[in-house]
Amino acid sequence: MPQTKRLKILVLAGTREARELTDRLAGDPRYEVVASYAGAIAQPTPLAVPTRMGGFGGPAGLAQYLQAAGIDVVVDATHPFAARMSANAAAACDLRRTPLYRLEREGWQAEPGDTWIDVPDVRRAAEALPDGARAFLAVGRKELGAFTGREDVTFTMRMIDPPAPDEPVPPGEIIRSFPQESVDAERSLFAAHDISHLVTKNSGGAAGRAKLLAARTLKLPVVMVARPATGAGPRPVRRVSDALRLLEELWCRQ
Ligand code: NAP
Repeated sequence: MPQTKRLKILVLAGTREARELTDRLAGDPRYEVVASYAGAIAQPTPLAVPTRMGGFGGPAGLAQYLQAAGIDVVVDATHPFAARMSANAAAACDLRRTPLYRLEREGWQAEPGDTWIDVPDVRRAAEALPDGARAFLAVGRKELGAFTGREDVTFTMRMIDPPAPDEPVPPGEIIRSFPQESVDAERSLFAAHDISHLVTKNSGGAAGRAKLLAARTLKLPVVMVARPATGAGPRPVRRVSDALRLLEELWCRQ
């Protein structure tokens, strides 16, 4: 190895891709890695690298952190719907002239046999449900408030942590679990609750795809919430291997 300076990387985490990336970076002598979780869920999956928790305090707070921690490069591997964090990362890295990479999985595409109702946001998703629907909400806790006005709809909601007392939630059944990776399990769940519509965000990724395949086989319409518009920030790479390549190139250039 011709160089000795380690590249100090901040990985903004909260996704499976971030976990895979930190797994691959851990123990590599070229890198010193710190990951960051928002602290949004009570027991996030432990990562293979030192991990800090909680917000930075907006773009200015993140810029300050980058300086104090001597970060050479940021990899924004947050969820496609974590638009605020991505915007903050873009602003802070711009301020500090710190290189920023974005790792964001591809979105799902409708395929033959799918019936998707495309909507731009969760408010429109709530409006798109027909009277008397029995909807399965596979959206985040923070988005449930958009559905509280639909008293004519029966909701089944899946979430990892229960909603906080001040978080608005439509009346209905709450299922505490991660998405299931088995299409059969998702199909049985939808059938058991007599679901007529699936509502989901276009998160992409293999883990959440089983519910779409289950909806297809049951011929359930899917209300698909589009990803938020990307503002500032780099063009995303789609695979962990691409992010690793960018980091390697940066290490070589130092
Ligand atoms: P968000 O709306 O974009 O961000 C809200 C605030 O949370 C940010 O301004 C930041 O606080 C803090 N934050 C977000 N990600 C952070 C991170 N990795 N490390 C430190 N602080 C972070 O994000 P969100 O939609 O609430 O998502 C929160 C976390 O959950 C993200 O890490 C995301 O990857 C993960 N997640 C989100 C979704 C989703 O659908 N939104 C789904 C699965 C996982 P400050 O401004 O104080 O820095």
